[in-house]
Amino acid sequence: MKVRFAPSPTGALHIGGARTALYNWLVARGSGGSLVLRIEDTDRERSTPENVAQIIDALEWLGLDWDEGPISQAERGERHRAEIARLVDEGHAYEDEGAVRLRVPGEGATVVDDVIRGEVRFAHAAIDDFVIARSDGSPLYNLAVAVDDRDMDITHVVRGEDHLSNTPRQLMVLKALGAEPPTYAHLPLLHGPDGKKLSKRHGAASVGELRAAGYLPEAVRNYLALLGWGADATTTFFTTEDLIERFSLERVSRNPAVFDEQKLRWMNGRYLRELEPGELARRLAQLHGDRPGLVEAAGAAQEKLQTLADFWPLAGFLVERPREIDQRAWQKVMGDGALDRLAEARAALAAVDPFEREEVETALRGVVDRLEVKPKDVFQPIRVAIAGTTVSPGIFESVAALGRDEVLARIDAALAQRP
Ligand code: GLU
Repeated sequence: MKVRFAPSPTGALHIGGARTALYNWLVARGSGGSLVLRIEDTDRERSTPENVAQIIDALEWLGLDWDEGPISQAERGERHRAEIARLVDEGHAYEDEGAVRLRVPGEGATVVDDVIRGEVRFAHAAIDDFVIARSDGSPLYNLAVAVDDRDMDITHVVRGEDHLSNTPRQLMVLKALGAEPPTYAHLPLLHGPDGKKLSKRHGAASVGELRAAGYLPEAVRNYLALLGWGADATTTFFTTEDLIERFSLERVSRNPAVFDEQKLRWMNGRYLRELEPGELARRLAQLHGDRPGLVEAAGAAQEKLQTLADFWPLAGFLVERPREIDQRAWQKVMGDGALDRLAEARAALAAVDPFEREEVETALRGVVDRLEVKPKDVFQPIRVAIAGTTVSPGIFESVAALGRDEVLARIDAALAQRP
């Protein structure tokens, strides 16, 4: 099988485009075939090198590679013009006020035998002789796509359903060229959870935004694969190897697929928890830069994260001392003998050895028992002292991750604020 991903570089790579790229990649990798990356840049005003670079960057981030290309469609103008001239010579097309139109039979129909949608008939009566070249000689989209698919020996065209209406025209060009048509598979549209066509309103719209929001490429790959496809009714988690092995166009649904960012967040959280803390820290560093202590902090926060971006608001205090304690948190927690309990906890922590999660827990629970108070009466003042707020990952994990010197220093600073 030889497939192609053919983005128009008129903007960023969106979720729908990324799914199309992934499905093509899975088809190629699963069949031992190949994938062509064709940049459909014939719209010279809206196609920019920055957009091309951004699309390639997004594909690379997703871990999708290709075997041929990137090939610029605009640079193939000579080929397109030569085929237009041949179609005119052979009587399949004719000039009309300078433009060139393809002859469409007055009767009958062109049938698209789509792997996903079945047979779709397009009556010729509804299709005019359509323009394949403008009066300046430049080729039109349907001509360029058909010539390129033929020249590149594409066997399967896998693309969004929004292109279904172009397909009869491309088939007619291919027929006039005397070419064997490829097999078509039109992927279902993407909707938001409200049933409306996917748009910016539904959250992150581009691959770049997903990346910046702290999703892992492996989680995005897994989630995108499920937007229209499933191996069975229940399985959600697939490694990329599973996807390559199990994906098939025959199992793609014709119903619209729902992109639900909440589900992606949940899946991403599962992927995050599977990472070794060192690997999690490496991913965090890629997004926001490296810091000393990031590995310990990553390990402490891991259970509570759904995206990498959740790390900073929740656990940033583990790698950077908060500038001050939040006033509301102080008022809520530090009244009523809290500072005395904090002083007790400080004394207990000073003696913990080794300064590890379990030993920290034993020491702090010892303080709770001795003072005959509720756990939170001891833990919340520590939390406010070390985090500057009332939210943090688990208190024992956080204390152990910070290390004794830093914990004691922050508690001392809080105690020094005693009014
Ligand atoms: N360039 C088209 C797009 O970005 C895709 C055309 C195709 O796959 O045939 O929507």
